[in-house]
Amino acid sequence: MPEDCIFCKFVSGKIKVDFIYESDNFFAFADANPKVKGHTLIIPKKHFVNSMDFPDSLASELFEAIKAVAKIRLKEGFEGFNLVQNNFEAAGQKVMHTHFHILPRKKGDGFRLNGL
Ligand code: 5GP
Ligand code: ZN
Repeated sequence: MPEDCIFCKFVSGKIKVDFIYESDNFFAFADANPKVKGHTLIIPKKHFVNSMDFPDSLASELFEAIKAVAKIRLKEGFEGFNLVQNNFEAAGQKVMHTHFHILPRKKGDGFRLNGL
């Protein structure tokens, strides 16, 4: 675990964060600077930088986590969600412990993903 990785500190419990969802290899928690209401991050418990070193063997558990978090948000009244993952600094990645953004959406909410 890289000493200075904030998300590893969440996983180890060094820094407390409220987890919305947990599975064997993943955690989900609210983004500290939400771009939309309900903005949630899903992270692997092990440190991987991004998609390029993320193991294929965790892909199906990752999608289970994505759907479980999405279900929580949809039950709260959201009508859809965007799934975003930034890879490398050039693409806007700031935290170098891979994470998947769930951005809950409602019709007409006016939110636009930059560049899309
Ligand atoms: P990136 O730009 O790397 O894809 O996104 C990093 C995300 O992590 C940002 O949306 C940012 O708000 C979130 N983030 C950064 N530091 C913290 C933190 O200490 N706690 C939480 N909950 N989210 C954080
Ligand atoms: Zn980490």
